[in-house]
Order: sequence, then C-alpha cells, then structure tokens
Amino acid sequence: MKKTIGKKVTKKTTRPAAKAAAAPAAPAKVRVATMWLSGCSGCHMSFLDLDERLVGLMKLIDILFSPIVDTKVKDMPQVDVGIVEGCVNNTDQEHELRMLRDRCKILIALGDCACTGNIPALRNQFTLKDCLARAYEQAESNRISCIPNDPLVPKLYPKARPLQEVVKVDLSIPGCPPDADTIWYALTELLAGRMPQWTEKNLRYD
Ligand code: SF4
Repeated sequence: MKKTIGKKVTKKTTRPAAKAAAAPAAPAKVRVATMWLSGCSGCHMSFLDLDERLVGLMKLIDILFSPIVDTKVKDMPQVDVGIVEGCVNNTDQEHELRMLRDRCKILIALGDCACTGNIPALRNQFTLKDCLARAYEQAESNRISCIPNDPLVPKLYPKARPLQEVVKVDLSIPGCPPDADTIWYALTELLAGRMPQWTEKNLRYD
C-alpha cells in the first residue's frame, strides 16, 4: 500500500456540502482626484478639517491622486470626481486642469479662488508687465532684478481665471475656504446621488 505523509486520507462517502453562498460584493468606491492650482492650500486644509469624518468617508471614496496623498502615482488616472482648489494663472495649470476635466465625470471647483479667481485675481487690475516688474524687479527683497524667462518656467497669463472660464465646472463650493461642514454637505449629497443645493444656511460665514 502506498504511504502518505500527513493526515490519512479517507474516501468520502457523503455528498459534498453545498457551496457557501457568495458574499455580496462591496460597492465600488468613488474614485477621486484633487489638485491645487493658484491657491494657498487652505481649501485642502479645510477638507482635512473633516477630522474623524474622514475615516467614514474613506470607506466610500478612494483618493487616487492628490497633493495631500502620497500615492506614488505620477499620471492622473480616470476618476469619478475631480476636486480643484485655486484658479488658473499659467500654462501648466491650464494643462493640468484640462487633463483632470478629461479624466473625471464630475468636476468640483473648491473655494473662492477656483470659483471666482479671488485673491490671485487681485492682480488682474494691473498689466502682466507691471505685475512681473513689481514681483521680480522692484520687490524690496530682490538683490538681483531678473524676470524669469527659462523655457521650463510656466508662462504666466495676463489674467488669473476661475475654472469655469477654462473648463466646464459641475459644482462650485464657495468660501475662503469653505468650512469642513460645507465640504461634508457637498460630498455626502453627491455620494447620495443628489446635487447639493446652496442656501443661506450653508453659505453663512459669520
Ligand atoms: S479660496 Fe481662500 S482658502 Fe481657498 S485657496 Fe483661495 S485663498 Fe486659500
């Protein structure tokens, strides 16, 4: 008789048990990318102010590409939702924004810089030449007066533009920054399949 190692194998005489019912598949997470253009990062900090609510949120969404997530992803993936802070000031920013627009289903303008231009657009009342001269030639901190002209440096546009002047925006979340409750309301409404409705209540800043 052939010897076996381990447990003695006995021939089954009973019928095999019915296969266990397959566990229901977990619902797919919503894929999210975020980016900041000309802004101060305050809107992303306000997103982080969701604090413990982030734990529950991360069960529903995957942030695949973002300046606040170390995903080691170099190329922007296809996502469901793109969230953008800041406005468009230069050639690189326009390129990045258009890429995200192409790769997301819903694009959110997060904060007043993205919605209206806000602080970065204060320069729009001056010419580009005057802005560059003030920043690089006349600034008190400059020891060498030199306007950067290396081809690698993105070209500054004559005006700062809100996102909606460059691409189609699906939802604007106003505020400088929008507070965490406002961001929470907007995201949870979207996750529930509803478009957030702004009212006096969630647009009060005092
Ligand atoms: S809206 Fe306000 S907080 Fe957000 S990026 Fe602009 S300046 Fe910063």
